[in-house]
Amino acid sequence: MGKVLIIGAGGVGTVVVHKVAQHPEVFSEILLASRTKSKCDAIAKAIGGNRIKTAKVDADNVPELVSLINGFKPDLVINVALPYQDLTIMDACLETKVSYLDTANYEPKDEAKFEYSWQWAYQERFKAAGLTAILGCGFDPGVTSIYTAYAAKHHFDEIQYLDIVDCNAGDHGKAFATNFNPEINIREVTQKGKYWENGKWVETQPHEIHKPLNYPEIGPKESYVIYHEELESLVKNFPTLKRARFWMTFGQEYLTHLRVIQNIGMARIDPVIYNGVEIVPIQFLKAVLPDPGDLGENYTGWTSIGCRIKGLKDGKEKTYYVYNNCSHVAAFKETGTQGVSYTTGVPAMIGAMMYMKGIWKKPGVFNVEEFDPDPFMDALNKYGLSWVEKHNIDLEL
Ligand code: NDP
Repeated sequence: MGKVLIIGAGGVGTVVVHKVAQHPEVFSEILLASRTKSKCDAIAKAIGGNRIKTAKVDADNVPELVSLINGFKPDLVINVALPYQDLTIMDACLETKVSYLDTANYEPKDEAKFEYSWQWAYQERFKAAGLTAILGCGFDPGVTSIYTAYAAKHHFDEIQYLDIVDCNAGDHGKAFATNFNPEINIREVTQKGKYWENGKWVETQPHEIHKPLNYPEIGPKESYVIYHEELESLVKNFPTLKRARFWMTFGQEYLTHLRVIQNIGMARIDPVIYNGVEIVPIQFLKAVLPDPGDLGENYTGWTSIGCRIKGLKDGKEKTYYVYNNCSHVAAFKETGTQGVSYTTGVPAMIGAMMYMKGIWKKPGVFNVEEFDPDPFMDALNKYGLSWVEKHNIDLEL
């Protein structure tokens, strides 16, 4: 049993609070804090009862975080604000001696670049303080990394080729919307592609490599190689990998909108002066795009995310595919949010549960694949993200 502080009241935060509230035997007290307190209050009200306390916090401000944490004294902070806040929240956790969990790696606001170096640099300080930091505990990164660890532990002597395949075959009925924070999402998908091959990174033009892949219960969808953050830690933690890639599906309509947004300068992250006021185009764009948290109501279809792996078992080549299909409709029914928030929030709750139960608890900063995958995989089946395995099939890759 322990107390948990959740920071961030967006789509993912909504799911985390719902799921944490379902387990009073693990999470004895819950505080939800975010920049806009009314959003926290709305989530607490939707869940009902009086277990969810709420507070306002600016997570860019370390002293404010420290006083919030000292006032509540949680055992763990779950950071589901934005990647910009990772370091300030980690600093506050160190100062108050509380463990930490997040779902996305740090990005500076003024540079479209994400990598683990900034957070890995906290390793010695977390270790010395006897605190645990669990990095990237959503679906991807998160479950995809745990799938990989599970495959390496149970099904292969050596994993050699990893293709993470992420399909959203849902329909939200809008001409253009992003499934999570538009600023973070557009920065991620418009950058150059990158994958790991034969000991080095290979860079591609954005969306240069693509092919149709078949997704279970969904069928063929055009899939594009993009760079995704879990590749960085996976190639480090599984050095036998000869190649590691990440594929994501995009519809033609989505790509056309994205191209226009870029071409007209609305994806810019540097400030411009408009009517004497400084604005950042991509932040302005976020303000006029649909709120990802509001997409759930009319969202139909499925997400399908998994790992396709090739390697050696008992001296023979073997293929393996492990995946989850998540229904947007079912996610909305349970939590009032769409499938992408759901598939991120459920693993964050499970990671927190692993920490609270002492199963994933060791001093230092860790990516999720560095913990035992087995109890997490069991929990996925219990708490809403069951998975399917296929052995020795054509991986199409
Ligand atoms: P949203 O934009 O919907 O929510 C972010 C929340 O953080 C909002 O409530 C926002 O406040 C709050 N926030 C932002 N800045 C601050 C601040 N300075 N202080 C306090 N609160 C702040 O994002 P999502 O819920 O879609 O995503 C949350 C996180 O999950 C992101 O880091 C995202 O990258 C990650 N993610 C990870 C995935 C994975 O599979 N690993 C997949 C999808 C998302 P306000 O309401 O005032 O704007």
